[in-house]
Amino acid sequence: MNEAGPPAGDFLSELRATLGDKGVVVEAGDMEPFLREWRGRFTDLKARCVALPHSSAQVAAVVKLCAKHRVPIVPQGGNTSLVASGVPFGGGDELILSLARMNRIRAVDPLNHTITVEAGCVLQTVQEAAAKVDRLFPLSLGAEGTCQIGGNLSTNAGGVNVLRYGNAREQVLGLEVVLPDGRVWDGLRALRKDNTGYDLKHLFIGAEGTLGIITAAVLKLYPLPRDVHTAFVALRDPAAAIELLARARGASGDRCTSFELIPRLTVDLVLRHVPGTTDPLDAPHDWYALIELSGPDADGDTGAVLESLLERAFEDGLVVDATIAQSAAQAAALWRIRETVSEGEAAAGASLKHDVAVPVSQVPAFIAAATPEIETALPGVRVMAFGHVGDGNVHFNLIQPEGMDRQAFYAEWPRLSTLVHDRVTAMSGSISAEHGIGHLKRDALPHYKSAVELDLMRTLKAALDPAGLMNPGKVL
Ligand SMILES: Cc1cc2nc3c(=O)[nH]c(=O)nc-3n(C[C@H](O)[C@H](O)[C@H](O)COP(=O)(O)OP(=O)(O)OC[C@H]3O[C@@H](n4cnc5c(N)ncnc54)[C@H](O)[C@@H]3O)c2cc1C
Repeated sequence: MNEAGPPAGDFLSELRATLGDKGVVVEAGDMEPFLREWRGRFTDLKARCVALPHSSAQVAAVVKLCAKHRVPIVPQGGNTSLVASGVPFGGGDELILSLARMNRIRAVDPLNHTITVEAGCVLQTVQEAAAKVDRLFPLSLGAEGTCQIGGNLSTNAGGVNVLRYGNAREQVLGLEVVLPDGRVWDGLRALRKDNTGYDLKHLFIGAEGTLGIITAAVLKLYPLPRDVHTAFVALRDPAAAIELLARARGASGDRCTSFELIPRLTVDLVLRHVPGTTDPLDAPHDWYALIELSGPDADGDTGAVLESLLERAFEDGLVVDATIAQSAAQAAALWRIRETVSEGEAAAGASLKHDVAVPVSQVPAFIAAATPEIETALPGVRVMAFGHVGDGNVHFNLIQPEGMDRQAFYAEWPRLSTLVHDRVTAMSGSISAEHGIGHLKRDALPHYKSAVELDLMRTLKAALDPAGLMNPGKVL
């Protein structure tokens, strides 16, 4: 326990008085799901307790209580972080503040194209609520059935539609935030224009819970596309993917919503380990892209645009084979290959994940340089470079050599990730495109951010959270 903290009993009885017995979890067995780190890299994690407030006022009361007793807080959404961001590392000192019970949709305004939701709403629930009023909420990622909007905004999540709609940050018009001193900032404005000083919401988006707790948000909605066409395309090489992407954007009037690069190794792992998946093409090829174009009208020309794009690319040697989904079920089967990559990867052994970004045009050069570097550094390692290549985001994941001890492979993380991150930095890229920094990349950050940038970040942290109680040890 924190030396400055109170005896657990005092704090817990005040917490119970605030939230009621249902709002506080203390039994080790009941806390277990909240202490599970998604990737299984970190085990034996401990917390003082889990608080489950069901309103912004309750969140504020818990935060005030923690400030009074100097109890550190780890905000937690769906706990799907891939950088160990939403779990505690304080040896049992911290309180996990789960937003799971704050899951109401507060308002939907189809004419303003907005939805107002509480932070604990599961992403898929928000997508479904938007679809009910004939609108699209475009944020979409593999964990969408579990992750929560508060977590998505706190990590500035990306996903498969960034190419057309932008990151989570771009979907936000307003926020409600409980500050580290327990005050509530009501910034729930539903305005497209509001130039009244600093745009404070952007401080909390992507802050990974280190500056405050997001309790609600006003999110942007879009017209629901009805002319959606999906293709699975075998490519000459990654350079052909980037050329095809540029052509797809141009030919379709920027109707390209997704462009995912997938190497054969990834497809092989998915086909081997994920039940119900099938190879979309007759023969294997080294590189593929999953492409989706989306237009507004059900009887529009998007399908024809996709077909002629692929025909031309085939004639020019960029594309070597392709299939276009003829039904929603076929499109879902193609997407299932992309969406179950993590499952296939996990079944293949331990993996070291790098979620990096370079300028889109530099993706082929990055893959060509980093792959042999890593293969030389650890013979037998399996490199899987895949991901949201339409926005320059490569998941450069390394799977352990067959037969290598799992822990011995994890011990290679500093050496191998330094190679990858140095390469990315030399190409003016980012060591974290969409997953954040969390606990996993915290120690790497100072090597790749300038002293000025780090100083500004620390200044903001000290100004908003002078006691350092908000998600300590994450990011900085
Ligand atoms: C299969 C799979 C696929 C994925 N695909 C993608 C992808 O394509 N793109 C992508 O960007 N990510 C992806 N992720 C990573 C992850 O899903 C995202 O980072 C997601 O946004 C995290 O949401 P969460 O609710 O699970 O947050 P958590 O994991 O619970 O928390 C993440 C961070 O946000 C903080 N936090 C959570 N809620 C709040 C709140 N209300 N207020 C303040 N801080 C809060 C936590 O303290 C923590 O720092 C994937 C993960 C999995 C398992």
